[in-house]
Amino acid sequence: MSPGTRTPLIAGNWKMYKTVAEAEEFIQALLPRVSTADGVDVAICPPYLCLPAMLDSTRGSRVEVYAQNMHYAEAGAFTGEVSAQMLLEVGVHGVLLGHSERREYFGESDRALQLKVPVALDAGLRPILCVGETEEERERGDTERKLRHQVQEDLAKVPVDRLGDVVIAYEPIWAIGTGQVATPDQAQEAIAFVRALVADRSREEAERTRVLYGGSVKPENASELMALPDVDGALVGGASLDAESFAAIVAAAR
Ligand code: PEP
Repeated sequence: MSPGTRTPLIAGNWKMYKTVAEAEEFIQALLPRVSTADGVDVAICPPYLCLPAMLDSTRGSRVEVYAQNMHYAEAGAFTGEVSAQMLLEVGVHGVLLGHSERREYFGESDRALQLKVPVALDAGLRPILCVGETEEERERGDTERKLRHQVQEDLAKVPVDRLGDVVIAYEPIWAIGTGQVATPDQAQEAIAFVRALVADRSREEAERTRVLYGGSVKPENASELMALPDVDGALVGGASLDAESFAAIVAAAR
C-alpha cells in the first residue's frame, strides 16, 4: 500500500468545548460543506454528552463520531470513566487515546494506553493514538527517543495484524494550541519515523497505518502539510470548532 492508497482522515478534537445546542448548530453548518469531500474520512470528537446527538445528526453522512477517551476496563469502580462497551452501545465509531492533555493533566500513562489500544480494537472502535514530544525534548534532541518510547509501549499489546487499524497522530506538544505549526520538514521527518517504528514490527502493516499530523493545523497551512508523502491527514483542535475552517481543512486533504 502506498501513500496514495491510504484514505486521509481529518479528525476534529473539540476538547471541552460545545454544549449539545452548540454542537447541533455546528453540525448543521458542517454537513453540507463536506458532503462532496470524496476520498477523505471525516471525524469529530465531541465531549461525551454530545455523542448521542452528534450520532443522530450525522447518520447517513460521511462524518463519523469519536470519543475523546475511554477506560480499559469493561466495567468497574472507576468513578467518572466510560468503557468501550458504553461507547459502542450508543454507536460511536472510534476513540482518541493518549492526547497530550490527558497525559499532562490527568496522568494518562503509557501503561494504561497499552491496555486501552487493544481494548478499543477488540470492541470494534477505531483508535487514534496521540504521540509527540515537548519543546524541551525537541531542543535536547530527544524527539525520536520520545516517539520510540510512546509508539513501542502503547502498541506493545496490539497483535501484529491489527497494527494497521490503529491511526497514530503525531502531535508535537509545542505546536498544540500555540499557533506554532511544525515545518513541513519537521512533520514529514517525525511522521516517517513513526511509520518506521511500526515497520519494525511489520512493514506491511506500516504501509496500512495512517499517521496524522496535529498541532495548529489551519485552513492556511493544511494543504502544504497534507501534501507531505507520509502525512495521512490531520488531528485538528482549535480550527475544528468552526464549521467553515474545519471544512476547508477537509477540502485541503482531498
Ligand atoms: C489537538 O488538540 O489535538 C490540537 C492539535 O489542537 P490545535 O489544532 O488547536 O493545535
